[in-house]
Amino acid sequence: MFRYHPDPIATGSAERAEHVCHVCGQHREVRYTGPIYGRRAENLCLDCIHSGEASRALGIGGDEVAQPADFTDAVGVPDDVPPEVVMEITRRTPGFVGWQQESWLFHCADGAAFLGPAGYRELAAHPDAVDMIRADLRRSGWAEQYAEDFIRSLDRTGEPTAYLFRCLRCGAHLASWDSG
Ligand SMILES: [Zn+2]
Ligand SMILES: [Zn+2]
Repeated sequence: MFRYHPDPIATGSAERAEHVCHVCGQHREVRYTGPIYGRRAENLCLDCIHSGEASRALGIGGDEVAQPADFTDAVGVPDDVPPEVVMEITRRTPGFVGWQQESWLFHCADGAAFLGPAGYRELAAHPDAVDMIRADLRRSGWAEQYAEDFIRSLDRTGEPTAYLFRCLRCGAHLASWDSG
């Protein structure tokens, strides 16, 4: 259903729970559990995120100056990524919960697919993703040993946590991280 978020139940951004969607009023079986940067909705179905109806309905402001709701942040988007891709990711794709306000990752002039939160064990299978975190820490001035210790301390459910993505074009694995 979502090109950039293939399995929202597996990533923890949705759950199987019967509910009446706040936006469409339909009985639905899969409920969104990720962040909404807009008006709150206790029960929101994935169909309404997919159609864009949720982004419109939960926007902030009056009819004239309505600011549609976002479900994820996209900061530092590369210049070669088309704006419609960014809109699809921020407004018509389930976001994900992290310790802070998470930003999507991009690669090969496209958005990457979010695979879920990851600890060192999950990341270790994808050396390219580990290298990305390593490079990120190096840029921030971390000494090598601290960086390696930090990477080994990554935890899927504890903190710090990594967020694993895969490029839809070249297949490279990408990762970001944060902690509370
Ligand atoms: Zn709905
Ligand atoms: Zn790529």
